[in-house]
Amino acid sequence: MKRLVPSGVTTILFVVAIVAAIGAMGYKRYRKTNQQKVSAERPGASSDNAIYIRSFNEMDEHVRKRWCSCGGFLELIGEGTRERDSRRFRVARMECHECEETSEVFFDTTDLLQ
Ligand SMILES: [Zn+2]
Repeated sequence: MKRLVPSGVTTILFVVAIVAAIGAMGYKRYRKTNQQKVSAERPGASSDNAIYIRSFNEMDEHVRKRWCSCGGFLELIGEGTRERDSRRFRVARMECHECEETSEVFFDTTDLLQ
């Protein structure tokens, strides 16, 4: 007759497989959190550490040189203006070609030369 209850060895293998799967998931999540933390601390990640520019050329140059924290190429998908505490910001919306993560880059344009 076939056993319906798994034997001891099967149970152990099963547990090992589950533990390995959970461990892999945790590691992936840790890496992602770490990556997000790194990108949150990059210059321009928020209006608090916006990149100070004097001309739009400087902005173009920075956008061209910017890469995703995963190493992928970032494409400019949109731009907008924002104001906060009487400072003006130009916000570039970027999307990564590799991980498809979208991010915003803040430029302080308060003293921008017109
Ligand atoms: Zn990426």
